Amino acid sequence: MTYQESVWDDSPSLKSYTLSNFRDLPHIQNLSEEKQFEMEVVGNVLPFKANNYVVEQLIDWNNIPTDPMYVLTFPQRGMLKPEHYSKMENTLKNTSDKKEIANVANEIRLQLNPHPAGQMELNVPTLKDGTKLYGMQHKYKETCLFFPSQSQTCHAYCSFCFRWPQFVGMDEMKFAMQEGEQLVQYVSEHPEISDVLFTGGDPMIMKAKMFSKYVDALIEAKLPNLKTIRIGTKALSYWPYKFLTDSDSQEMLEVFKKITDNGIHLAFMAHFNHLNELSTDAVKSAIKEVRKTGAQIRTQSPLLAHINDDAEMWAKMWTKQVQLGCIPYYMFVVRDTGAQHYFGVPLVRAYEIFSQAYSSVSGLGRTVRGPSMSATPGKVQVVGTTEFDGEKLLVLRFLQGRNPDWVKEPFFAKYDENAIWLDDLKPAFGDKFFFEDELTTHPKTLQYIKNDAMLINDS
Ligand code: SF4
Repeated sequence: MTYQESVWDDSPSLKSYTLSNFRDLPHIQNLSEEKQFEMEVVGNVLPFKANNYVVEQLIDWNNIPTDPMYVLTFPQRGMLKPEHYSKMENTLKNTSDKKEIANVANEIRLQLNPHPAGQMELNVPTLKDGTKLYGMQHKYKETCLFFPSQSQTCHAYCSFCFRWPQFVGMDEMKFAMQEGEQLVQYVSEHPEISDVLFTGGDPMIMKAKMFSKYVDALIEAKLPNLKTIRIGTKALSYWPYKFLTDSDSQEMLEVFKKITDNGIHLAFMAHFNHLNELSTDAVKSAIKEVRKTGAQIRTQSPLLAHINDDAEMWAKMWTKQVQLGCIPYYMFVVRDTGAQHYFGVPLVRAYEIFSQAYSSVSGLGRTVRGPSMSATPGKVQVVGTTEFDGEKLLVLRFLQGRNPDWVKEPFFAKYDENAIWLDDLKPAFGDKFFFEDELTTHPKTLQYIKNDAMLINDS
């Protein structure tokens, strides 16, 4: 494909840019050869996909290399640790053999905590008749996750993506399901489930016809326990035309309306990482169209170094979201996988950014929760710092726990300015956190631990 500027006032078509054609972009050609090669080195290990909307409307090319949307979509050298970078750099300089490059890439990927192979076998929920449901996860009591096989990609890839193994051909790490009937059966066998979360990749990559098959199956089953359908998506940010001018945009909006007309709450879990994603006319119109269907849009993002580690930006973003009729919902902490060393923000700093932003927005923006780690035992929020016996401590609590009772009590860790994840923290009292024994001995939670490795932004 050769680059041609898109027409945005008509019915734009999505053009993707990957490792094979990103050098066609004039914006990229303006960068040095060294920079372009760096992108190739990193892009051979971690997934990379941009599109014409991101390139032409979201990235400020006068602000390279620090533009947040640029860092969010184009591979950055620091995303690989120096030893991994050199390994791939040398490989690309010495060979063009695709197989050899792929072998080196896989070798590096396996050192980025992609989750051990074979895990899926242990993770899958089963129907009462023993059928294993690849493509579903049931982590918290009320919510089950559904990964339709047609939604295992996104309109563009976030450079920090925590689900990166799905996009780099590590097939044994993919999980997906095609069977709407089995989803219905599982939800009907589990009356404790009130929410079904469609996730991926991005379920909004699906055609309306395909998405409506799953939705129809759920609606027609008239499941008394099903109260909410959630859609975890970044389409508003990466391709708002999905809800405006794509050939099936109206059909998709009608599916949303069908959900709400049937008395089921439609929760649109929209992924926005930066205020700039809310700046175009297209995203504002798309938000309006989605809201007209009766869907409620809740917003979430991880806190990311080099992209959004700025309290003022978060405050402006939450305020803008409220103005557009969305509900700020979660600030996450970057997970312990992939390029965490590049995007991670220490927990103490994350709390400072969160509290500073939180305290400067109106009450309507304070629906947001965070900073929250989707960690093995559950969603753990950093609540603040305190002092006990002259020692500074971090205060934590569960927003969701493997055992729902865990959400009742705060717990404490030794103050540590460098910790970026729950595993880095040491208990303030005793040698274990209060939940650890139960987590490692209870069969149910043991299974959950195995599940968890595949679950990231699962709200
Ligand atoms: S939208 Fe979500 S799943 Fe897709 S690349 Fe971004 S973080 Fe990953």
